[in-house]
Amino acid sequence: MTLRSSRLSLAITLLLASCGANSGQGDPSTPAPRYSNDAGIQDSLRTCAPVTVTMLTRNEAGVAASLVAPLEAEFAQVYPKIACFLRDGPAPYPDVVTTVRTFTPQDPGVANACCGRVDISAAYLTQSNGDPGLLTHELTHLVQNYPAGVTEWWWTEGIADAIRYLYTPANAGWAISAPDRATSYRDGYRVTAGFLLWLERTRRPGLIRALDGVLRRGGNPGPFWVTTFGVSVDDLWAAYLAQ
Ligand SMILES: [Zn+2]
Repeated sequence: MTLRSSRLSLAITLLLASCGANSGQGDPSTPAPRYSNDAGIQDSLRTCAPVTVTMLTRNEAGVAASLVAPLEAEFAQVYPKIACFLRDGPAPYPDVVTTVRTFTPQDPGVANACCGRVDISAAYLTQSNGDPGLLTHELTHLVQNYPAGVTEWWWTEGIADAIRYLYTPANAGWAISAPDRATSYRDGYRVTAGFLLWLERTRRPGLIRALDGVLRRGGNPGPFWVTTFGVSVDDLWAAYLAQ
């Protein structure tokens, strides 16, 4: 086994200038920097406190270094944005250990994340030639850190893919799902992400952060949808399909 580790440390300064797309301050002739990949999505309007985070990369399977370096670059680019977009106050953003290792038949999948650790399948990383965005999805789970009471997993996965869509520098070969009557918002991942991004874009800027807060504090959304929009989540989904 080849074990190669590298430590990426960065002092991340999340200032309004880099975190907010519309601060309402500064020289009006200077456009605010675009923060996300979607000009139709309002970025965070908050000031995010400076934080320092690190990612330790363990290449246990000895995959090509050309596949590992982009993971570290992706971490440096997206992790502060995820933290700024989702968290609504000072929070212990976890330092990250990312391990590229051999997954077993008893341990299937392409990647998983928990408790400050991201594991990525070496076989999948090689076969997909890196899959930019995979790490963003997994890092979102570390920031989410929802309690065990969250059983409506589709919101968790939908938010992770929405964040992937918004902040991965290059989502090569990957896209959000378009509205499709054969699908459900309960499908999770890019299907649910498409729905959440539509709500964020057309109905309520800040929806994704608000939903994230509900999930982190209390479990499933429950009455959140009616309280926020005045209609049920099924009615919102029907409107999404009918657009
Ligand atoms: Zn996931």
